[in-house]
Amino acid sequence: MNTLIIIGSGPAGLTSAIYASRSQLNPIVIEGMEPGGQLTTTTIIENWPGYPDGVDAQTLMSDMREQAKRFGTVFKNGEVTEIDLKNTPFTLTVGKEKMTTNAIIVATGATPKMLGLSEEKKLIGRGVSTCATCDGFFFRKKEVLVVGGGDTAMEEAIYLSTLAKNVTVIHRRDELRASKIMQEKAKNIKNINFIWDSVITEIHDVQKNTVTGASLKNIKTEEVTLKKCDGIFIGLGHIPNTEFLDNQLELDENGFIITRDGSKTSMPGVFAAGDVSDPVYKQAITSAGKGCMAALDAEKLIQGLE
Ligand code: NDP
Repeated sequence: MNTLIIIGSGPAGLTSAIYASRSQLNPIVIEGMEPGGQLTTTTIIENWPGYPDGVDAQTLMSDMREQAKRFGTVFKNGEVTEIDLKNTPFTLTVGKEKMTTNAIIVATGATPKMLGLSEEKKLIGRGVSTCATCDGFFFRKKEVLVVGGGDTAMEEAIYLSTLAKNVTVIHRRDELRASKIMQEKAKNIKNINFIWDSVITEIHDVQKNTVTGASLKNIKTEEVTLKKCDGIFIGLGHIPNTEFLDNQLELDENGFIITRDGSKTSMPGVFAAGDVSDPVYKQAITSAGKGCMAALDAEKLIQGLE
């Protein structure tokens, strides 16, 4: 039987692994399908403290992994396909293996919703972004598009309006889904414009390895126009990676794990950290902070058990 299993290997999972392994809890990290997490889909990170010139995202994540490994963390490839949190010790299935443990930290992150265009993947981190707070600074005094009509899109547009020259919101309908207050806020900002009833059909320019514009199709008239821009922010929201939990933990209405009293979930012995339990901040540094909290909370519980 294991003492602690950490599910997920982004900043939350790896920070909890560093803390837990330094406390001799012998954690096992189940890496998931995207080892290193969402950050590995980007390039340079300029807001991680301690790096005045920024840090390469892949390097940051592999350094965190090495740091956790140095203190004894064991890494396991694969995904948790089944989990039983109703009986203790908890049981998890990873591939063909069944594992049991006294404590779990869920740090499986959240997946940004994408448009599904092939260029999106190729240009992510090269002009296409899912996080204005993370990447807005690269677009100072530039032209950017924000896709979506919900609160996420409005929040991204409002944030970007303080940095970019112009922000154009592209929405597939002629009315926004966002709350009235966010709509009003966005509509009252001079450099935020809206293009209604339109979808992006192509992002340019994969050949140049950077964003130069987008083809927009008006879904009412079918007219296709080219909109030049330097960046495209996909503001469609996130899907928290909680499906595998099969509703065994309390989730909010959008599927994020609810934590109380630090990192505790509705199930004693199960803790949550990072984007999977954070509908608000979704930053690498806040995830790492919560990962630390989860390891300390787990340690307290395990000490009580022993
Ligand atoms: P929502 O589901 O509310 O909005 C998603 C938006 O993206 C919709 O306007 C939708 O269009 C559009 N969209 C979805 N898929 C596509 C697609 N393939 N192509 C084009 N457009 C697409 O998600 P949010 O993340 O915005 O919000 C989720 C929840 O989180 C809400 O409850 C919201 O209030 C909350 N939230 C609150 C914030 C705050 O208060 N500061 C900030 C962010 C979120 P359509 O409308 O046509 O369906």
